[in-house]
Amino acid sequence: MIVNTCGFIDAAVEESLEAIGEALAENGKVVVTGCLGAKEGLVAKVHPSVLAITGPQDTDGVMAAVHEHLPKPHDPYVDLVPPQGVKLTPRHYAYLKISEGCNHGCTFCIIPSMRGELVSRPLAQVMQEAENLVKAGVKEILVISQDTSAYGVDVKYRTGFWRGRPLKTRMTDLCQALGELGVWVRLHYVYPYPHVDEVIALMAEGKILPYLDIPFQHAAARVLRLMKRPASAERVLERIRRWREICPSLTIRSTFIAGFPGETDAEFQELLDFLQEAELDRVGCFAYSPVEGAAANALPDPVPEPVKEERRKRFMQAQARISEAKLRAKIGKTARVLIDEPGVGRTQGDAPEIDGLVHFKGGKAGEFADVLIERADEHDLYGRMR
Ligand code: SF4
Repeated sequence: MIVNTCGFIDAAVEESLEAIGEALAENGKVVVTGCLGAKEGLVAKVHPSVLAITGPQDTDGVMAAVHEHLPKPHDPYVDLVPPQGVKLTPRHYAYLKISEGCNHGCTFCIIPSMRGELVSRPLAQVMQEAENLVKAGVKEILVISQDTSAYGVDVKYRTGFWRGRPLKTRMTDLCQALGELGVWVRLHYVYPYPHVDEVIALMAEGKILPYLDIPFQHAAARVLRLMKRPASAERVLERIRRWREICPSLTIRSTFIAGFPGETDAEFQELLDFLQEAELDRVGCFAYSPVEGAAANALPDPVPEPVKEERRKRFMQAQARISEAKLRAKIGKTARVLIDEPGVGRTQGDAPEIDGLVHFKGGKAGEFADVLIERADEHDLYGRMR
């Protein structure tokens, strides 16, 4: 039974609590929803045996509770799609898309004109999908979007309900909830907003992976302004320093553009200096390429092709040295690894497809192993299972 409640005045609360009591006496399986559901503690105190307490307009929360306690019988003739949906990744990891579109106007990018403004998926729906994936054997969830840190901005961080508990449609709350599923949770495409600092604490507590994919794009203040990107190099360096203080095991992945229109030799050097200072773990660099329709195409002083390419190469060479030194520092240590296929796995600091691998003998896909690291090159680690 689903009891829709009112919590406006005391008499209504009283009546709602009575109705819940009657429903419990009738069949004992009760899901509470409506305004009184927002006062979860009160309902739980009076009626601790209700199956779930959801809040106003939380249709998804009600349906999730119904499905949890009254699963639909499996019918192989009509249920062609398994509960976790159809996914194209291996069984042990999956991408979880939390929103579509973007409200920024980076001048090199046309995504907002193609995909529109940010639309966040309801929190309950995202969490339901995540739970289904975990039930189906997924060990690592990769959170993706165009702008993960903007999650919920479009719905003004509306309160959603998960497992009967109110949660804001917001990156930090989402990470907290995902952190309760007991699997690896990895954040991608995090725009450097100030509130990113909040999730670093969750990483330090081991709730989500200490991994941040945060595209900085450049370091020179004037180039960042031309790109319409936030922050200056000093501030970013200061933030990175603080993040690492809070969470020393943090792996930072970032992407940059070399040869953006108007980028001078001195500004490119500034970018290289930033790279040396920041010592990022994983870095990608693209030579600027004009995309049809991008505002940056109209900027003066385009950088000639060979110069762009030469800068990209210099950037990647500088990063290769940093990356190799960082990986060397792991030699002699034991790394927890999620095995992608026998003999090949990834540490917490390595996302599938884009980061490095750990090579060793043995193991089974989808299982965790502890690997003693014996050797490193600029991308990968080599060792043996303990
Ligand atoms: S680069 Fe990312 S943040 Fe900037 S407009 Fe494109 S999708 Fe949005």
